[in-house]
Amino acid sequence: MTNEETKKDFIREMVAKDLAEGYCSVPITRFPPEPNGYLHIGHAKAICLDFGLAQEYAHLGAVCHLRFDDTNPCKEDIEFVNSIQEDIRWLGFDWGEHLYWASNIFDFYYDCAVHLIKNGLAYVDEQDRETMRLQRGDLRTPGTHSPYRDRSVEENLAQFAAMKEGKFAEGAAVLRAKIDMASSNMNMRDPVIYRISYDHHHNTGNKWCIYPMYDFAHPLEDAWEHITHSLCTLEFENHRPLYEWVIDNCPVPAKPKQREFSRLNITYTVMSKRKLRQMVEEGYVAGWDDPRMPTICGMRRRGYPARAIVDFCEGVGITKFNGNTDVARLENAVRGELNTNAERRMAVLKPLKLVLTNVPADFEEEVEVIINPEKPELGNRKVTLTREVWIDRDDFMVDPPKKYKRLSPGACVRLRGGYCMICTGYEADAEGNVTEVRAEIIPGTIGANPPEGIKCKGAIHWVSAKYGVKAEVRLYDRLFKDEAPDANPEGFLASLNQDSLTVITDAVVEPALAAAPNEFLCQFERTGYFVADRYDHSAEHPVFNRAVGLRDSWAKMNK
Ligand code: ATP
Ligand code: MG
Repeated sequence: MTNEETKKDFIREMVAKDLAEGYCSVPITRFPPEPNGYLHIGHAKAICLDFGLAQEYAHLGAVCHLRFDDTNPCKEDIEFVNSIQEDIRWLGFDWGEHLYWASNIFDFYYDCAVHLIKNGLAYVDEQDRETMRLQRGDLRTPGTHSPYRDRSVEENLAQFAAMKEGKFAEGAAVLRAKIDMASSNMNMRDPVIYRISYDHHHNTGNKWCIYPMYDFAHPLEDAWEHITHSLCTLEFENHRPLYEWVIDNCPVPAKPKQREFSRLNITYTVMSKRKLRQMVEEGYVAGWDDPRMPTICGMRRRGYPARAIVDFCEGVGITKFNGNTDVARLENAVRGELNTNAERRMAVLKPLKLVLTNVPADFEEEVEVIINPEKPELGNRKVTLTREVWIDRDDFMVDPPKKYKRLSPGACVRLRGGYCMICTGYEADAEGNVTEVRAEIIPGTIGANPPEGIKCKGAIHWVSAKYGVKAEVRLYDRLFKDEAPDANPEGFLASLNQDSLTVITDAVVEPALAAAPNEFLCQFERTGYFVADRYDHSAEHPVFNRAVGLRDSWAKMNK
């Protein structure tokens, strides 16, 4: 558990109170994804709350269940099931033995429905959908009773059995809870709780042709698993009376309660699974784990540490107010985490050859780069300096402005970890593009200042031309150029940032970086934070993804 202060919210206060007052002795929560897509950062917020609570009360034996909410007939997509489990584990959470499938208890939902019928609390309605919709009324007008509402218990039992036996066509009959057609809460106006579908179900095949609706099944799943606190997002708030009605009127083994908190929304991002799927299927991104996607696997591939995602979710906090969180907060969490823990390395993204003309052709010297004397794990190391090195094109200018702190003819700059050197000349092609820079090192300046009268302007990073390794570097930027893509009148796709990916194929990295394991995270000094691509990186073909820049470049642009 990290910061107790940031973890005080109304849900946690409620759980503490429920324990003190004896509503429960051990909190049991659940995270109930529908296996129809990959998890995104919004899910991460729910995961941090559901699993986080269980961790906080682990001493009491608290657990958080992972429940696949698969009551809709469809083909199981094993890809989604596996990715959801992998992502939750990667975030640092564990359901232990508590993995559940909502489709495993179809018998229980069915028995509960029969129980309702026997108690005069549910009826089979054989009207068409449109008629039922018109009878619902609206916020100002009470609904009208269906002519089937007062069927006898026997008739309802027979018709519900007929539904189950496949005697009705899809849509020809539904089971409705008999609650209150005049309720001010539209969800209580005799909601449908069972419908007919002849689609194949991945778990039960064609055994069932009637399926419970979400509002009926969810409370029953919770009760079946003895969940104490069923936490969900605010749009379910006005479904809560129905949730409680189901719990109160069905033969349930436990009495869970539902509480709601605000969804996470992030600027410059779309979060709905439907839209994310559309981007994947229509090829706007390379897949669910494209590093620009707000999916957990996308962020992982981008180089966002799990810790940063959890910190971000905890920082946003649990409230009742739907807001739009600035994506810069997430990027800052990533930057903060990487600044503290990522090793430093050198890489040159736009290579320009620099020749040290006053050393022999076979010159080689091990120089030591000290990142932090107290934290050697941040990448204090030896690198080999050779006569020819690569520096970044942006670190040399023929005719620089006054405050330029890098290399230009006559200027003195230090090669990071090595000597101070003075630029003595350069070569350019017919168009005036600089093709090579020359400099002379000043002996005795490793770790020391140049002699009196020469001012060393700063240090630039470099990679030995002899030992450096060519690498592919993928520079990712925000996927959307507008703050609220969902609000674009031309549709969210019109907000796509056409420059969200730049691929550099001729970068040069320190030799050790080629040998780095996949997912190795580091700072390229003076450049940004990078990760060795989870899939494409290899010693033969190093590939690095930019997680985030050193500074928030969007904030600068907006000013
Ligand atoms: P989407 O709307 O993106 O399709 P969903 O709600 O349909 O998502 P589920 O698989 O049903 O996706 O979600 C599992 C859990 O994650 C639910 O309890 C849901 O409340 C929670 N959740 C989904 N999106 C968010 C979000 N943006 N912020 C917080 N919690 C979320
Ligand atoms: Mg949902």
